[in-house]
Amino acid sequence: MPYQDLSYWLSTVDEPLSPRPALPGDTDADVVIVGAGYTGLWTAYYLAEADPALRIVVLERQVAGFGASGRNGGWCSALLPTSLPALARRHGRDAAIAMQHAMHDTVREVGRVVAAEGIDCHWSYGGTVVLARSGPQVERARAAVAEAREFGFGPEDLALLGQDEAVARCAADGVRAATYTPHCAAVHPARLVRGLAHAVERRGVTIHERTPVTAIRPGAAVTPAGTVRAPVVVRATEGYTPELPGHRRAIAPVYSLMIATEPLPAATWERIGLAERETFSDHRHVIIYGQRTADDRLAFGGRGAPYHFGSRVRPGYDREPRVFAALRRTLGELFPVLGPDVPVTHTWGGPLGVARDWAASVGYHRGDGLAWAGGYVGDGVGTSNLAGRTLADLIRGEDSGLTRLPWVNHRSPRWEPEPLRWLAVNAGLKVMFAADEAESRTGRPSRRAAAFSRFLGH
Ligand SMILES: Cc1cc2nc3c(=O)[nH]c(=O)nc-3n(C[C@H](O)[C@H](O)[C@H](O)COP(=O)(O)OP(=O)(O)OC[C@H]3O[C@@H](n4cnc5c(N)ncnc54)[C@H](O)[C@@H]3O)c2cc1C
Repeated sequence: MPYQDLSYWLSTVDEPLSPRPALPGDTDADVVIVGAGYTGLWTAYYLAEADPALRIVVLERQVAGFGASGRNGGWCSALLPTSLPALARRHGRDAAIAMQHAMHDTVREVGRVVAAEGIDCHWSYGGTVVLARSGPQVERARAAVAEAREFGFGPEDLALLGQDEAVARCAADGVRAATYTPHCAAVHPARLVRGLAHAVERRGVTIHERTPVTAIRPGAAVTPAGTVRAPVVVRATEGYTPELPGHRRAIAPVYSLMIATEPLPAATWERIGLAERETFSDHRHVIIYGQRTADDRLAFGGRGAPYHFGSRVRPGYDREPRVFAALRRTLGELFPVLGPDVPVTHTWGGPLGVARDWAASVGYHRGDGLAWAGGYVGDGVGTSNLAGRTLADLIRGEDSGLTRLPWVNHRSPRWEPEPLRWLAVNAGLKVMFAADEAESRTGRPSRRAAAFSRFLGH
């Protein structure tokens, strides 16, 4: 499939997606990074900024932005896959609070670099509104705010909106209340990742595309065209990680799928709102997410595609007609103004990476020079920037506030062997769908969903 057909976003970057030259043969570097998504490129960016003399090589199997970074919902948020209570249970309350503050700073930092590097990624710092459209969803909205308060975060970080305030931001059908955080920007994700690739090249980093890495080992990244020998090797392959030898059970690739509408007329936007291009969702169990694009479309996505046996990642898995139809139906339910035939022009998807304990992590082992970051679940747009800054400090041996954050050198357990992994991930999905369905039928919160969340350690 041509790269521009992989997502609405990749079809609307302002450059052709012609691959950069592949690795010509064996070479030496100071740092070799595998994967040219946000994680690999942010790491290269901060390393090159801190030490312009470093010889940094990025190896990418396809082209920069081929993976989730060129296909996502474009929420540059301060969200983490692990809740504050779960982080506090594992690492202590202060560490959890420090991590959340670091994420708030991260959204500002991405905005700073986007402006400084002139990356035209339609950055709009409009925050996120998460709607509550049923009794149980209102309860969850209240609980989310109460939890934020327990950790010392005030209304300036997360506010509970009454019905009128919520509707003023996003007039979806049946809105009763909402939570609102200012800590999120809507971005054009592919323009961000492509712009980052150019920014690192301006700083002297070499990117080789169409260069698959077949093995990572201390001191080397091996490809069919040759080996890059370097004392530091960074794995930044997220949902594709299980394909690397020795990493089959490190990450489960879970698919998220999206649709985009045609540009909607001004009159429709007057009815919907999202005037500040707030990203939006609601408090249901199976995650949905949307943004108003700079060209006035709705880009809208959700989970629900099945996990594939053996952690397989295949191009066809991005296209699940059943999930696209469900997304279209859900968008129509949220915004009846779109009419019975929601005008969808694009459908796509991609794999994201889920660690067994649902915890993102970043790490570097000085002994063997191997570094990694990932397991962001659906929250990698912002988090990968924090990962890149942290890896740059770890690799350079800088003891900073970032290197003391609780996710540093956290080792998630490995996933169960198959068929247990397949059974567990897909059963979880079923529980959450059934919980949403039961809640909208009965108006009461689902106990099974709460139990499953606890099982995940949320
Ligand atoms: C549909 C969808 C919607 C999402 N929405 C959001 C959102 O709104 N907000 C948010 O925060 N997060 C979201 N996410 C998650 C987010 O996109 C990811 O967490 C983030 O892009 C991860 O970046 P990465 O660089 O770690 O991985 P990727 O972008 O997947 O990059 C990995 C790169 O490594 C390359 N690679 C893999 N294996 C090899 C190899 N062996 N050799 C060479 N190269 C290799 C791949 O080709 C790829 O380019 C979404 C994800 C999806 C799929």
